[in-house]
Amino acid sequence: KAKAMGRGTFCFFETVMDADRQARRDLETVLQQALESNQFELYYQPQVDTITEQVVGFEALLRWHHPERGLVSPVEFIPLAEETGMIVPIGEWVLRQACKDAASWPADIGVAVNLSPLQFKSQTLAHTVVSALGDAGLPASRLELEITESVLLTDNDTALATLHHIRSLGVRIAMDDFGTGYSSLSYLRLFPFDKIKIDQSFIRELGNSKDCAAIVKAVVDLGASLGITTTAEGVETSDQLNRVREQGCSEIQGYLFGKPLPISSVHELLKRHSPEAA
Ligand code: C2E
Ligand code: MG
Ligand code: MG
Ligand code: MG
Repeated sequence: KAKAMGRGTFCFFETVMDADRQARRDLETVLQQALESNQFELYYQPQVDTITEQVVGFEALLRWHHPERGLVSPVEFIPLAEETGMIVPIGEWVLRQACKDAASWPADIGVAVNLSPLQFKSQTLAHTVVSALGDAGLPASRLELEITESVLLTDNDTALATLHHIRSLGVRIAMDDFGTGYSSLSYLRLFPFDKIKIDQSFIRELGNSKDCAAIVKAVVDLGASLGITTTAEGVETSDQLNRVREQGCSEIQGYLFGKPLPISSVHELLKRHSPEAA
């Protein structure tokens, strides 16, 4: 996945990944220190209702302020955090921070948090969710957790049981990057998802490809008949917005409405949207 970025910046990490066990342990230490010295920060990308064009929530997206390399993209370091197991404590930090931040927003604004498959292995995830909500004073209904099908791919039974437990709390579960995996459809049968996020690769080609348009339409219709909300990811143009709106997609997320923002800018944005609430 990192290679697809086509950037030169990940070379540093690639060398580390290819190196020996010691190098991996060093990397784990680096990530541990990054966590301890507050080098991680959450950015938030607005999620917008396609009809009203009002912000309905934000997705928390992790950033790493590396002391030498500056801002590092999650596409570069999440795979390494997964490989070293550090995604478990880092993911818990993300969850707790996102719940804390969201607790200061208006009551109708939700927050979405991404989860890695490894976080489901720890057996304590449901407890962590309960504790993060409780400590922040955030109602479960304002939290949404995003998973990709890889969560259900590995160790199916435990992950499913955990997901059911978490959903029974009132937390919504979204399937992220829908359509990019091998069997997204069969996962819809495995678990009652609340939301499908149509991958940005389909949205990007909406204007140029009749096939993409047909696929998006089919996913939206499928969602509707299953009672599942659909979000279009990576909406960058008003043409794309018009198309997904026509097709009945209920929410959009993308650069057209806003890039991921630091928390200070989120507060500014919310002040403009509902001056009395913020
Ligand atoms: P994702 O969850 O699918 O998040 C959407 C990604 O698409 C974000 O990239 C976002 O900045 C980008 N994006 C949104 N709108 C547009 C658009 O209009 N055009 C384009 N070109 N891109 C857009 P980001 O922030 O680099 O995150 C990449 C991935 O890293 C995320 O994909 C997610 O899988 C992972 N990630 C981010 N934060 C976390 C986290 O806290 N935990 C875990 N486990 N994974 C995370
Ligand atoms: Mg996501
Ligand atoms: Mg996605
Ligand atoms: Mg993605």
